Amino acid sequence: MCAASESELVAVNRPTARRGEQTKETIVVGGSAAGLYTAATVAEGGHHVRVLESRKCFEPASRSLIVTDHFRSQLGSAAAESIVNEIRRFELFTDGRSAQIALTRPDLIIERSRLIPALARRAQHAGAELSFDTRFLSLAPNGRGLRVQVDSGGSREELHADSIVGADGAASRVAKAAGWPPIETVPLVQAIVRLPKDQPADTTRVWFVPDDTPYFYWLIPESANRGALGIIGEDGHETKRCLEHFLEKKRFEALDWQGARIPVYRRWVPVRRRVGNGEVYLVGDAAAQVKVSTVGGIVTGLRGALGVGQAILRTGGQRELSTLRRELGTHWLIRRILHPFQQKDYSLLVDLLNESTRESLGEINRDESTRLLWSVVCRQPRLILLGLRGLLMGRGLRS
Ligand SMILES: Cc1cc2nc3c(=O)[nH]c(=O)nc-3n(C[C@H](O)[C@H](O)[C@H](O)COP(=O)(O)OP(=O)(O)OC[C@H]3O[C@@H](n4cnc5c(N)ncnc54)[C@H](O)[C@@H]3O)c2cc1C
Repeated sequence: MCAASESELVAVNRPTARRGEQTKETIVVGGSAAGLYTAATVAEGGHHVRVLESRKCFEPASRSLIVTDHFRSQLGSAAAESIVNEIRRFELFTDGRSAQIALTRPDLIIERSRLIPALARRAQHAGAELSFDTRFLSLAPNGRGLRVQVDSGGSREELHADSIVGADGAASRVAKAAGWPPIETVPLVQAIVRLPKDQPADTTRVWFVPDDTPYFYWLIPESANRGALGIIGEDGHETKRCLEHFLEKKRFEALDWQGARIPVYRRWVPVRRRVGNGEVYLVGDAAAQVKVSTVGGIVTGLRGALGVGQAILRTGGQRELSTLRRELGTHWLIRRILHPFQQKDYSLLVDLLNESTRESLGEINRDESTRLLWSVVCRQPRLILLGLRGLLMGRGLRS
């Protein structure tokens, strides 16, 4: 049963259109991070916005996520409400070796079940309408813009809009309906575990075990006594099996499980398409706006949402989207370097992390990856050779 209904969230502050101007209608499909942030941006600009969310009510599943401090500058006070912990150190492990990286600006652990209501309140405060139990089915052009078919609480309804934003996740139905090709996804599985006594609550651990995954395992503390231990893999069953084996080896007990498929960014997904006289946009996971080096999608999805929101309002957006595109491209380059790494390459990588390289990694965050990459290779030029080796070994990796 739903504890909180949409009307209980906030008092609505709907902006009015200027005299003689017809209010533009925007429909956002998906009431999660990227969709709600787009809705707030567009509603603050004076459009009438309706968010369609297929879930029956407003109780987002609990999930601990790690983000860089860029998140704070993106969301201001809404960020503060969702932060549950700060990370000041990373410990990297591979084959008996380890390296520590102290972060100058701490990473943030945010709780999704607090973030989504905070974003929803902001969207509603700007005048956006939220409709739950409303599933997007299809779209088609009409005279002025777009006609949208939805299933609302079991009944078919038809809505009209000038623009539609697909913020409906990796398996986006909006993208499919408007003709975007499907995006590739990988499984992410994590177990909630008790934090080991020797792991401080401000430290995230990362293990590179290339026999299990071309990505990595992580243990992110969400509090002083609990953390999320996870893995990204390539095959769903095999990924879960590897995590179970890892838990057993490290003597962890899974208190809870979380998981989903995450998009893999391989190339920029153009965010806009014209359908008749209307415009369709994609944001967040629906547009694969995910850092493929670490498979983090919150900060990049919010960036995409801001860019698309500004594009709908005709107040810019190009700059934000170009920065995002560059950023995602650098993460794809890093992934191509790391993906074919074998154990000896990770061992060498950890050995090459000298003090000054670790300083760069601690000072510059993962959401400024081009600057970070440049700074790291300037301080340890031997990493260029290792990187080139990775790229050559990974020539088979599809691009
Ligand atoms: C276990 C796990 C851990 C993660 N950890 C991190 C992390 O530490 N850091 C990080 O940055 N990222 C992390 N991610 C990735 C991050 O959570 C996603 O990139 C981000 O949540 C995507 O947000 P979104 O709004 O684009 O899409 P989603 O959160 O997928 O939201 C899509 C919304 O659309 C709705 N919807 C779908 N279809 C329809 C339809 N037809 N009609 C109406 N509504 C519809 C869904 O109900 C949902 O609410 C993690 C993901 C998982 C699964």
